Amino acid sequence: SYDEFYVKSVIRSLQDWPEPGVVFRDITPIFKDPKAMRMVSDAFIQRYVDSDITHIACIDARGFLFGSIMAYQLNLPLVLVRKKGKLPGETIHQEYELEYGTSAVEMQSDALQAGDRVLLFDDLIATGGTLLAACTLINKLGAEVIEAAALIDLPDLQGSTRIQELGIPVYSLLAYE
Ligand code: 5GP
Repeated sequence: SYDEFYVKSVIRSLQDWPEPGVVFRDITPIFKDPKAMRMVSDAFIQRYVDSDITHIACIDARGFLFGSIMAYQLNLPLVLVRKKGKLPGETIHQEYELEYGTSAVEMQSDALQAGDRVLLFDDLIATGGTLLAACTLINKLGAEVIEAAALIDLPDLQGSTRIQELGIPVYSLLAYE
């Protein structure tokens, strides 16, 4: 069963990466640890097994790794939110602010449609900019975000608060103050 202490012991904290003053929460050791991988995946699968979500949308790139496990186990369609310029065919994109400059996420125009009820997943919520831009895309396609979920929330950065203020429920497995 899920053991928060164990999962936290597997996540690695890197000081001053990718730049001075930042503590990066590195989840790649989870992928090397089948027990941790299974604990995290099962926790999310249990949360959504009896929900009425119709689709899982996951964010480039670490969001893909758990998103696809959830989609397989819940037998739901998986749609991708990618960094701009990666997806072929007709797409829509949304820019968002970074600390320095801007970035953009993109979805294929036929990924979702009106009436779809979407679980949006990424590995980590910092400022919330990435998830909010993804919510905008999902709404532009006519679909509804039922919940924005992440493995890790950094509540001090207020991202989860910003998302909740728009009326979108937020769920995270772990928080780092
Ligand atoms: P936000 O848009 O909420 O400011 O940043 C979240 C995005 O940046 C996520 O896609 C996440 O993968 C990445 N990110 C930012 N900080 C970290 C971190 O400390 N650890 C990990 N694993 N990802 C981070």
